[in-house]
Amino acid sequence: MSIQAQLKKYELPPLPYKTTDLEPYIKGEIVDVHYNGHHKGYVNASNTYVERLEKVIKGEVTSYDIQGLMRMLVFNINGHKLHSLYWNNMAPQGKGGGKPGGKLADLIEKQYGNFDNFKKIFTETANSLPGTGWTVLYYDYENGNLQLMTFENHFQNHIAELPIVLILDEFEHAYYLQYKNKRADYVGAWWNVVNWDDAEKKLQKFVK
Ligand code: MN
Repeated sequence: MSIQAQLKKYELPPLPYKTTDLEPYIKGEIVDVHYNGHHKGYVNASNTYVERLEKVIKGEVTSYDIQGLMRMLVFNINGHKLHSLYWNNMAPQGKGGGKPGGKLADLIEKQYGNFDNFKKIFTETANSLPGTGWTVLYYDYENGNLQLMTFENHFQNHIAELPIVLILDEFEHAYYLQYKNKRADYVGAWWNVVNWDDAEKKLQKFVK
């Protein structure tokens, strides 16, 4: 039996706004290339590498680099999943930015004292990332705390179930057409498009 017959293909989710809706903080050209180029590329490559893995399992390919294959699977599948979170985590001009409310505001106040201090620490964390990767705020099921983490590339392992609340893409493709080498300026501008309602919605899913 074909494995592929049992697997649903990865699909590019709809962008929840127009490509120009994050301006002036993130240029439409960036969102267009990022979504229609990079994210779509991760989706297509995810399906390509799953098919290749299927061929390997069925014995149709006898010579292959299994480590390279697994690396490409992880890179592309994680890339797809992380970008799906990233797009929804931003809101069109006028609807993004400001401060969180609800449970997220409570946790931030409890752990960081106040929002401005949280923003400062998140920003410092994001700016400390060398090279290419992501900064995420996630929910720790064990102690009910928020945790900050940076990771390089698209992470090394399968992160589908990591309970991410807030996520920032720090690949050069996310900012270079507008901010060039001034990544910290992009990080600073990104706060103006954060969709706190979406972050709260994500958090509510994790809190039992
Ligand atoms: Mn990206």
